Amino acid sequence: MSDSGPGPDLTALYSVSLQSVQARIDAALARSRRPPGSAELIAVSKKHPPAAIAAFHALGQRSFGENYAQELRDKAAELGQLRGLLWHAIGPLQVNKAKYIAQVAHVFHALERIEVAEELSRRRTGAPLLCYVEVNLAGEQTKRGLAPEAVAPFVDAVRALPRLEVVGLMCLPPFTETPEHSRSHFRALAALALRCGLRGLSMGTTADFEVAIEEGATAVRVGTALFGERPAPKP
Ligand SMILES: *Cc1c(COP(=O)(O)O)cnc(C)c1O
Repeated sequence: MSDSGPGPDLTALYSVSLQSVQARIDAALARSRRPPGSAELIAVSKKHPPAAIAAFHALGQRSFGENYAQELRDKAAELGQLRGLLWHAIGPLQVNKAKYIAQVAHVFHALERIEVAEELSRRRTGAPLLCYVEVNLAGEQTKRGLAPEAVAPFVDAVRALPRLEVVGLMCLPPFTETPEHSRSHFRALAALALRCGLRGLSMGTTADFEVAIEEGATAVRVGTALFGERPAPKP
């Protein structure tokens, strides 16, 4: 099959990775006695070409995660004909790029600044933009997100804005090769969400999504396990 085009090969490859990740999600839900389908898979497609997204779409995947506002805007324009595609903006966002997210995203996972929330609210038309508030549980200097004690007042402030709907909390714990290292962070996020009356939990990546599901994740953001390694940045 070496001379067949990249299209069919890509689809065959992705079919295997999608089934494998979905099976691991299903198993994690089952062993935590959670209902099937109660953790949504977001395929993190940042840095991968539109053709890769189209291949996953052909396999039935609908939710895709992108980190960079302009990349998301461009891919949404290019793939506008694909039915039912849901764009999740998952990366840090500057006020001056918020308009792109307001225009094309269905869900924003990294809300942490009121100025960005206000701009998203101003620029949004149509259905409310569903938002997760990002929390920095480990107090890492290099990471984004609100300190846990700042979350409840921030959620109240965002709730006062039209066309935004806070659905839950999000975190990205310190990178680890050992999934168990993330468990205490996921557990803390779940407890904080409960205290804030929020049921959505966006947590878990390739490194630790099964542990995240065991701790209550309702959305997992998985890139590498689906698409393979991201292309290296150009020098
Ligand atoms: C890139 C990214 C992911 C996906 O990471 P993988 O290790 O490729 O699964 C998830 N969440 C955020 C916020 C990301 O930036």
